[in-house]
Amino acid sequence: MSAKKLYIATFGCQMNEYDSLKMAQLLQNEYVTVKGPEEADLVLVNTCSIREKAEHKLYSLVGRFRDLKSARPGLIIGVGGCVAQQEGERLLKGLPFLDIVFGPQGLYGLPDMIKAIEGGEGPICATGLGRDFAIPFIKGPLPEKRPVRAFVTIMQGCDNFCTYCVVPYVRGRETSRPPGDILAEAASLVDQGVKEITLLGQNVNSYGGKGGEGIGFAGLIKMVSQVPGLARLRFTTSHPKDLGIDVMECFRDVPNLGRHLHLPVQSGSDKVLGRMHRHYTRGEYLEKVRRLRDICPDITLTTDIITGFPGETDEDFSETLKLLKEVEFEQIFAFKYSPRPFTKAAGFKDRIPEDVKARRLNTILELQNNISLKRHEALCGANMDVLIEGPSKADPLELLGRTSGNHAVNLPGPKGLIGRMVTVRIEKAFCHSLRGSLV
Ligand code: SF4
Repeated sequence: MSAKKLYIATFGCQMNEYDSLKMAQLLQNEYVTVKGPEEADLVLVNTCSIREKAEHKLYSLVGRFRDLKSARPGLIIGVGGCVAQQEGERLLKGLPFLDIVFGPQGLYGLPDMIKAIEGGEGPICATGLGRDFAIPFIKGPLPEKRPVRAFVTIMQGCDNFCTYCVVPYVRGRETSRPPGDILAEAASLVDQGVKEITLLGQNVNSYGGKGGEGIGFAGLIKMVSQVPGLARLRFTTSHPKDLGIDVMECFRDVPNLGRHLHLPVQSGSDKVLGRMHRHYTRGEYLEKVRRLRDICPDITLTTDIITGFPGETDEDFSETLKLLKEVEFEQIFAFKYSPRPFTKAAGFKDRIPEDVKARRLNTILELQNNISLKRHEALCGANMDVLIEGPSKADPLELLGRTSGNHAVNLPGPKGLIGRMVTVRIEKAFCHSLRGSLV
């Protein structure tokens, strides 16, 4: 009997990419993954509710799957991820052709839920949040053959309750995975050809609390970095308040740790940071950047910015612009504030008009493009170690790789270099990438 076909649509963050891979891995004894929904027997949509746009995309995409189900009533459709967690039974009521609604914790029960649906049971909603939920280590090969990069989740949930963020409500409270499971998963990935691993968590710097066996995040970095054959290790996301000297020193002391840190600042105004419940001031953030650059001068920094948070004045906004000029990030990820369900900030009355949010976003992006270009131009002429990830997105006949500082580099070269670390001479700089040639 030929294997059944699975199509997974993934929205949003790296955590969701990891969860989608786990879904494919859990189901691979019965399903092969296909690239489109038309021929699939099982369609899973992994949703994100961090931004409003991702939610809208879900409703328009799932609408398309309704037609497929009308044509093929045996098709099973499941919606997972944060929107599923947030909406639960409401999704099943609003979209009655769905078979399964499951949250980020519920995904590990997918094989049983699918069997139940195949056995004729009615729609299933698995959106319970366990306080002591631990991410299991799923043994077995990866569904995708020999990927160069892979994620390993080291913790689940978040206890920080930033006032704009839905994560603690949809992914639950913070729990660290045992270091032994993380190490086993990393070693198994490297055995299968993975060269670069990114340790994932909402707040990796607080790793080691509940479930982490007291090892601490710096200890975990050192432990995973020693997996034989691992070319590069990265991690994301860091909360500035929990970034300690021990982790900063890893950038100097751990040879295969990528010299790049994503350190979300969100705003340069102390008043706004206070209302966001970020638990650091502009001064404390800048001091951490200074210490980090003292310890590891060639580190690259990226950040997240929210424009138009409730109550943000022109003066607050200019503090953010000043901070960007002072730090000179390599890249930023900037978004207009949008109220998310359950969050405290959704109840703030001093909302900023959409046109002001959009204008501020454009101003920030324009400023950052100039900074990024300037920083990238300074790399022209340098020889850099680049890990080749695969074909270039712009031109599939070329290659795409990444430097230790996480710059994307496009270059001509043979496909046989995919997965190899090569030396590249940087010849051209753009806002979001570099171009070079093999040395
Ligand atoms: S640290 Fe704040 S922004 Fe990050 S996941 Fe936790 S609550 Fe959300």
